[in-house]
Amino acid sequence: MEIEEWEQRYSEAFSNISGLLGNIKGVFVAYNSNVDAIKHIKEHEIKRLIQLLGCENVQQRILDYPREIEDPVDFMARLIIAMRDGKAAEVPTYTTDLHDWLMDNLVFDKARMGGQAGIIANLLATLGVNNVISYVPWLSREQAEYYVDMPNLNCPVVEDGKLFLKHPKDAYDPEQKPKINWIIEFSKGTKVNCSGEVFSVPRDNRLIISSRPKWIRIDMDRQLYDHLPEISESIDGAILAGYQMIKEEYDDGSDCHDYVEKAVNVIERLKEHNPDLRLHVEFTSIQNKAIRKAVLTRIVKKHVTSLGLDTVEVANALNVLGYEELAYSVINKGENSIVSLYEGAVKLLHELDLQRVHIHSLGFYICVVSKDYPLDEKSHREALLFASTLAATQATLGSIGGMNDADVGLDVPVYSQGYDGLRQLEKYLVRRGICSVQDFEDGCISTASHNLIIVPSKVVKDPVATVGIGDTISAGAFIAILAKLKENKIKKA
Ligand code: ADP
Repeated sequence: MEIEEWEQRYSEAFSNISGLLGNIKGVFVAYNSNVDAIKHIKEHEIKRLIQLLGCENVQQRILDYPREIEDPVDFMARLIIAMRDGKAAEVPTYTTDLHDWLMDNLVFDKARMGGQAGIIANLLATLGVNNVISYVPWLSREQAEYYVDMPNLNCPVVEDGKLFLKHPKDAYDPEQKPKINWIIEFSKGTKVNCSGEVFSVPRDNRLIISSRPKWIRIDMDRQLYDHLPEISESIDGAILAGYQMIKEEYDDGSDCHDYVEKAVNVIERLKEHNPDLRLHVEFTSIQNKAIRKAVLTRIVKKHVTSLGLDTVEVANALNVLGYEELAYSVINKGENSIVSLYEGAVKLLHELDLQRVHIHSLGFYICVVSKDYPLDEKSHREALLFASTLAATQATLGSIGGMNDADVGLDVPVYSQGYDGLRQLEKYLVRRGICSVQDFEDGCISTASHNLIIVPSKVVKDPVATVGIGDTISAGAFIAILAKLKENKIKKA
């Protein structure tokens, strides 16, 4: 692969797409946002908390391996497990008691916007996309403060039977409590001593305590639901995320099927008056397999056009769709896992009746697209390159302040190792006559049943932050696609 050639493609793609974003009428983004309270925990703080809670208690709870956080001892046990293994973990808590305890005993260093839909709404507004409509069913005063203060970012509110678009700071519910997730970061080398457990943290990583209070519902107010056609007429696309919040059962007797149904109704209502509307779902891990399957086969299938996910999520999705072996092969890091990843993407495209499946990984992105998609492979490639530039910008700066920041991302070199990792896929495709070496190097491959686009991505060596980069990649590529579709429509008119 000629790296220089890709660098050239990157700068052309970025300038082309950024010049087209203004064509987008608007984008609707729902459902999940929260406040991320971030704390970088230090040795003396760990020692103090262990002393406070009692070493023996914590030790016993480590053995119990709590799957949810009910009290501070559960929290400490999961923190020690995450630090001991150097692994990232996310554990839910269903009350706000732990938040109060952490505020009294630890206090966060900084707070920022969290949750896929919140992160994406801010990103699109910052990039200057027209009419970004953000819908969060639990918009609190505290949450509203974390939205960028820009006139192109608004929330829908119904007053006196009429729909208004107002900035979150003028649209929040004063009675609503905030959803605050805690992100406890820890550093390699931190020493921990808790009776039997004496170790030094092997790797920098983080524990996320995801707040899931009872009032969290992936739902929409009836009045707003009635006004959805007005919203859908003013947008070209919708990005939907947060279905992982759907619970198996609720206190009022309702269950996950009720909420899956509600989610489908929202999509259908959005499409009713705008059949050309493109819908992207950003997938994330859903522990409960029945809910994961229901999200894929009932919400995503037939209703959604585009799906974004990382490699682990591809395996998780394949697993519940009945492709256990393929799923295993995607994540087992064997020689063929890249081929399995591609085959898995094709399975998702066809099984779920999608038009586009976009997989992001460290070093490359793979996108499979249906044959009837009204854009050529080069346009899809531009969208991926645009997304990778945004990812590199975010990894370098921590956040994207505006389109001008992207020069920083463009300066990040293409990650040649990432592309080298694709050699196995190249061999597989070329050997079977699916494409030529040249097609593969161009990243644009046309097969009988789908098109395939593969790009090497830009990877930042020492990233400032990595949380939410996946959301940036998927949303960035999706708006680039919307802009390209719009350009075609304008050209044809
Ligand atoms: P998150 O949910 O935090 O966004 P994901 O696993 O969905 O996490 O996405 C992370 C993606 O971010 C990776 O697939 C990779 O493409 C990208 N990424 C991670 N680290 C870097 C980096 N240092 N430079 C550029 N891109 C990165």
